[in-house]
Amino acid sequence: MKKLSLIRCDSAEFVVGAVSPKDFPEDDFPEVVFSGRSNVGKSSLINSLLQRKKLARTSSTPGKTQQLNYYRVNKAFYFVDLPGYGYVRGGKGLREKLGNLVETFVTSSQKICAILQLVDVRNGPTDSDRAMIDFLRSLHYPFLLIFTKTDKLSSPKLDKVFSRLENEGVLGGMSYVPFSAVNNQGREDVLRWVDDVVKSDKSQ
Ligand code: GDP
Repeated sequence: MKKLSLIRCDSAEFVVGAVSPKDFPEDDFPEVVFSGRSNVGKSSLINSLLQRKKLARTSSTPGKTQQLNYYRVNKAFYFVDLPGYGYVRGGKGLREKLGNLVETFVTSSQKICAILQLVDVRNGPTDSDRAMIDFLRSLHYPFLLIFTKTDKLSSPKLDKVFSRLENEGVLGGMSYVPFSAVNNQGREDVLRWVDDVVKSDKSQ
């Protein structure tokens, strides 16, 4: 069995931006999938996990990631960055096309070993986040919720947010990690979780 460790990132490279299923890579590397609304901080999380400043493009303009971006990590598995949903530059037609592509990918890929869903800690989960969470959890892959941009709230405010979400039953037994790309809060926890699921991936 290949050593699939992420705790140390030895190599990471962008492989392809898939705009249709024919672009999906055909090799057998396991896939760790990242999902979230445009601007939620997906690129920043990927860069932080892989300790690369600009591997994934980060931007203050929402809706720019309009393809499935594949990053090969340690020559052993992929990070797959799904197009951000919510606001998409290009309007309804493009939004539908991207929705179909994401659905085709997550329902047909045989190589997914984990899904990470990002939610902005300041306002999520929104209705579209909840719809996405329900859909992705119905696929029964190991699933981690990541609350991004925690540095934007004070610690008492953060505590309040999480106790409210717990009390309202929003977290529903899901594993979750508070994360900030600014101070790297939660980075180690996310890495450890991903490392564990990749190592125990049955398809290996
Ligand atoms: P994506 O569209 O989901 O890939 O989001 P990006 O990673 O491009 O981030 C969108 C914006 O939010 C950028 O201006 C980032 O600098 C900012 N951002 C992302 N993560 C954080 C974070 O943890 N803390 C703060 N304060 N800003 C963040």
